[in-house]
Amino acid sequence: MAFPTETVYGLGANALNAEAVAKLYAVKGRPGDNPLILHVRNLGGAIALAGDFPEHARKLAREYWPGPLTLVVNKSPALPAWVGGHPCFTARTVALRVPSHPSALALIEAAGVPIAAPSANKSGAPSPTDASHVEADLGGAVDYILDGGEISVGLESTVLDVTGGGAVILRPGAVTAEMLSAVLGTPVREAALVSGESPRSPGTKYRHYAPRAEMTVVCGNPEACAAYIAGKLSAESRPGGILATAQTEKYYKNYFKDRIHFYTLPEAGDSASGGLQPGEIAALAAGDRADPQTVARNLYACLRRFDSLGAEVIYAEGVGESGLGRAVMDRMVKAAGGNVVFV
Ligand code: AMP
Ligand code: MG
Repeated sequence: MAFPTETVYGLGANALNAEAVAKLYAVKGRPGDNPLILHVRNLGGAIALAGDFPEHARKLAREYWPGPLTLVVNKSPALPAWVGGHPCFTARTVALRVPSHPSALALIEAAGVPIAAPSANKSGAPSPTDASHVEADLGGAVDYILDGGEISVGLESTVLDVTGGGAVILRPGAVTAEMLSAVLGTPVREAALVSGESPRSPGTKYRHYAPRAEMTVVCGNPEACAAYIAGKLSAESRPGGILATAQTEKYYKNYFKDRIHFYTLPEAGDSASGGLQPGEIAALAAGDRADPQTVARNLYACLRRFDSLGAEVIYAEGVGESGLGRAVMDRMVKAAGGNVVFV
């Protein structure tokens, strides 16, 4: 069954039931070597599944649980070897999180078991931030979708490896490096930013969060980004999409006049689907550059919207990398398959 968390909608299965977990991988089309996050009720529930739960990790859990922080710890030897991932694989470590969404907590409580819950989308697609996204991706394959309405964060949790006495960010999220450093009193780094280090979080190696269109992320100040994107799309014959920001909306309207249509989220009555003609441009303002939280909350819905409008080429304005902006950029760049330009 699919259910809301504060990050994105999850597809849940009893993490201790091999048959249920195998089905979860099959429904999502998730590669078997990509392990799962186990959702538990509280720190005690997490400690019960861990081989050891180091003091610095407890400190972080006390500060940020329930919330969008996943801790990777050594697994309890009492658990079957596969628990934490696909039943055909062996997991030495386990990723644990206590979500803060009341529906998610109620579900874990009622189930009485840890719930393995990856995002409730087809593997590789943008994560679902609305029950309708789950329906679109997995509608025929899941028994229940618990509709919890709007989601507060909109991006997946921060994944932090706390094994071996360290703290390394495997995936940036709403609990930022600064927030982790503040609690631990030491700088916390991101594994992916250390050159030469191969991904330790298997899920980070796949093209992810991606719309069907060819996508490019454009980084720079608002005017430079808008000018670059306008130039590119003027010369483009395929239906285009612009992921704009509040700061650049006016610029595009002036430049493209009636060739551009600004859409809103959610799809407030404008039921256009596959409606873009060659040379036409759909624009969505993802949010405010000064407030990356707004972009985080809307990003996946925007990418899905471009798909439903039939955009074949998307230009997305990047945001600054401080705070939550870092996680926004991580997802945008992966959605674009690494296609980034600096202007
Ligand atoms: P998702 O559930 O789709 O949001 O993805 C969960 C993320 O956590 C993926 O990037 C996984 O590779 C990562 N992950 C889950 N378990 C582990 C683990 N034991 N060690 C490292 N990364 C993990
Ligand atoms: Mg996912």
